[in-house]
Amino acid sequence: MTQQAISRFWEWGRKILCVGRNYREHCLELKNPLPKQPLIFTKPTSAYLKEGNSIVIPKGCEEVHHEVELGIVIGKPGTKVTENNAMEHVAGYVLALDMTARDWQSVAKSKGWPWTMAKGFDTSCPIGNFIPKEDLKDPHNLDIWLKVNGLEKQKGNTSDMIFNIPFLISFISQHISLESGDLILTGTPEGVGPVHANDVIDCGLGGDFTMSFNVTKD
Ligand code: MG
Repeated sequence: MTQQAISRFWEWGRKILCVGRNYREHCLELKNPLPKQPLIFTKPTSAYLKEGNSIVIPKGCEEVHHEVELGIVIGKPGTKVTENNAMEHVAGYVLALDMTARDWQSVAKSKGWPWTMAKGFDTSCPIGNFIPKEDLKDPHNLDIWLKVNGLEKQKGNTSDMIFNIPFLISFISQHISLESGDLILTGTPEGVGPVHANDVIDCGLGGDFTMSFNVTKD
């Protein structure tokens, strides 16, 4: 795996695995119980969106929420990875948004349906530039924040994750093999909320890494 290839992982990576409810205060704000084990769901890779393109609120959706998250980019395949060896499989990181059709998700939850449409619609996974592992000394102590139209909405720190990165890699890889180019989204801190057409979302990670997206409506 060359550095050049991994730095464009979104063009060829085969899956996006997401962790729900990985920050205590976010669990509480959505009135969800604290998880005893990681809640894992997926997004299709067609959901990727790079800067310069707009997040599109899907037709028929009344409430799209922002969720700013630290993403882990896998650089070495692994099955049944141990926590001790987990970080060897990390190539780097990415600042990401887990855009969520909250009204669709609420219906799905009430019916016991999967969250696929609520979490996987086109443009639901905006990402920043690839951050090589060497450029982030401690992924478990990073400020992560999000503003809508200049107003702060989310401000957390990755030290507040309930399940840390080695645990998540080990947990997932017991049953889903990790492949190079896979992305794992590690959950969002509190402060999620709706965005509307013409809003501008700015977010940042660890002081050095930021990204910005406009919102439009289908
Ligand atoms: Mg999320």
